[in-house]
Amino acid sequence: MATKNLPFSKEQIENIIETHPTPFHIYDEKAIRENARRFKKAFAWNEGFKEYYAIKAAPNPYLMKVLREEGFGIDCSSVAELELAKHVGMSGDEIMLTSNDTPAHEFQLAKDLGAVINLDDISHIDFVEKNVGLPETICMRYNPGDLKEGNLIIGHPEDAKYGFTHKQMIEGYRILKEKGVKHFGIHTMVASNELAPDYFIETAEILFKLIVEVYEKTGIKIEFANLGGGIGIPYKPEETAVDLEYVSAGIENLYNKMIVGNGLAPLKIFFELGRSITGPYGYLVSKVRHIKNTYKSFVGLDACMVNLMRPALYGAYHHITALGKENNAATEKYDVTGSLCENNDKFAIGRMLPELEANDIVVIHDAGAHGHSMGFNYNGKLKSAELLLRENGDVVEIRRAETIEDYFTTLDFDGLVDFTV
Ligand SMILES: *Cc1c(COP(=O)(O)O)cnc(C)c1O
Repeated sequence: MATKNLPFSKEQIENIIETHPTPFHIYDEKAIRENARRFKKAFAWNEGFKEYYAIKAAPNPYLMKVLREEGFGIDCSSVAELELAKHVGMSGDEIMLTSNDTPAHEFQLAKDLGAVINLDDISHIDFVEKNVGLPETICMRYNPGDLKEGNLIIGHPEDAKYGFTHKQMIEGYRILKEKGVKHFGIHTMVASNELAPDYFIETAEILFKLIVEVYEKTGIKIEFANLGGGIGIPYKPEETAVDLEYVSAGIENLYNKMIVGNGLAPLKIFFELGRSITGPYGYLVSKVRHIKNTYKSFVGLDACMVNLMRPALYGAYHHITALGKENNAATEKYDVTGSLCENNDKFAIGRMLPELEANDIVVIHDAGAHGHSMGFNYNGKLKSAELLLRENGDVVEIRRAETIEDYFTTLDFDGLVDFTV
């Protein structure tokens, strides 16, 4: 059976479960830091290089604090995410606001924090000017339309709701310059969970080309290019991770030709990755509740799609390891399910696994991004705790599990008494 490694032993997890009942998410701090350092090192050639962690992937201030210590900024797209940044103590150009359909109060909070505002639409130039005033630095999100093929999660760029057209970009820079904006950035993001390294080099090429064109047509020297998020991770054991050094070398080559070659250096390279930063280093730990045999064999877990929606939402593959049974032959074909009254509440369908029984501990891999954060409370299911495995082996609870009181907190049961029907 194809395998994936774990940063903890069965005994360690059994010990953790004594104080933190399943299900829970656990993140591996050491691996997150090592990955962050490798990423930064790969792009060390670019002065001012910065990764803005897309906080929606795992909006936990403790994880953000770790990443900030590694030099990462934060990419926000809501008031709550900006507030989280504030709680971590972040401000100014540590924060990027890349949102869409943005309300005025969100622009206001971003401006108050000194965040870099990335506009999603040309009409937002007037909207921001009128409601909060234009800041000195502005970025715009480019949608390259048919210049670029999208992928499954985002779809074709022409169908995507994000960004300015090519014509609007040129027009946008002209207007902003006229209105006195001093510093400019450019952004694009047209794919998610992409594993082909050349994809990101091509994205850089599209942006660099536009940067040259903007300079020729408006005289504006763009100061940073945000290449977005979207670097995929090998969810399946047989897949390979994106070779960051290869991507970086390809981008550096284009940078020298197109940016340095046209006298447009320095240009800072930014990313706003989420998945590839924490995804592989988070695990959903759950226990088998029931084994059910009908027309198929079902493994019922104490976790459900509230804890990890990706399989139900996208049919996504997440590898599953049964602790202590790693070396057993995968002889059984199971649907691995949660307890929602939704038949798509399955972590895996027809997955070959070793024979399982009640109370076995299973680990669902690659749950460190777009995992806990996507959860909802449908069917009254509660979101689980998040734990951090520190570098020294300590385990810290970085978010407690929801309680039934949390679930009912928006209801006023006392009001029921006076509510006559
Ligand atoms: C979701 C998102 C990201 C992060 O995407 P990943 O696939 O997690 O890297 C970055 N930027 C924007 C605008 C996004 O919507």
